[in-house]
Amino acid sequence: MKISEKFTLIELLVAVPAIAAPRQRGATARAARFTLIELLVVIAIIAILAALLLPALSAAKESARKSYCTNNLKQIAYMNHMYMGEYDGVFPPKKGLNGGTNDLTGGWYQLFLELKSATWESFFCPTDDQSCYTSDHRINYGRISYGYNQRMLGGDGATGISTWGGAKYVNYGRAAYLKEIRDPPNTVFALDSAACWNSGNLKGYYHIWPWADANNPLAYGRHQKNLCLISWVDGHADGVSAGASCASFYANNGPLGNVWGDQKYFLWDR
Ligand SMILES: [Zn+2]
Repeated sequence: MKISEKFTLIELLVAVPAIAAPRQRGATARAARFTLIELLVVIAIIAILAALLLPALSAAKESARKSYCTNNLKQIAYMNHMYMGEYDGVFPPKKGLNGGTNDLTGGWYQLFLELKSATWESFFCPTDDQSCYTSDHRINYGRISYGYNQRMLGGDGATGISTWGGAKYVNYGRAAYLKEIRDPPNTVFALDSAACWNSGNLKGYYHIWPWADANNPLAYGRHQKNLCLISWVDGHADGVSAGASCASFYANNGPLGNVWGDQKYFLWDR
């Protein structure tokens, strides 16, 4: 065999023990036994293989979770279009008319669940570990993984112009019509969220505020490479890089930060 030839993994596994103990070839009775060196070599090879494969395995798992989350957000977009189809093209409210602080009955995701095709699983991102809550708690107290762009689409808040961080934004005071959205493929409907107001709690919450504010739930880069997965108003779903923690998000004026005045994205506004 030429030196320049490359070995396959299988050849290496076969060759290394043979090279380590060549005297065994001529032996008869001892041939079936392993020497200590051979055993150590095999263990070392297994350890190296495991070290190589484990990170790839965890990356594959996160990749699967990301696909699952993206599919959820596509389902949510689909539910939204079904909902708007029944209500003259109006976006859902953040929560129902009788919705107190701890009663979200009639809120956007509860309304979606009344649609025939809807299931609870669509509102839980597998990377968002909320195992500390029961599923009842999650559903009734807004502990789902995706935050609704309620301020701009659901019409939450007073009417008029406000200022945040030197940028002006509009409080609409009512839910939007789909036809009022200037750039549907670049306007957020819902996304991976974090309950940042709650001592930097990075578990999801049912609505977000579009401007970085330590006292409110925000967009959150939950997936690999700080990817925050988004359901856009036109119905497609993909990811945008966002902060990896509440603290880093506050300081972030990037594509998911405070974007008023940036003509490239509408993202949050109508
Ligand atoms: Zn997710």
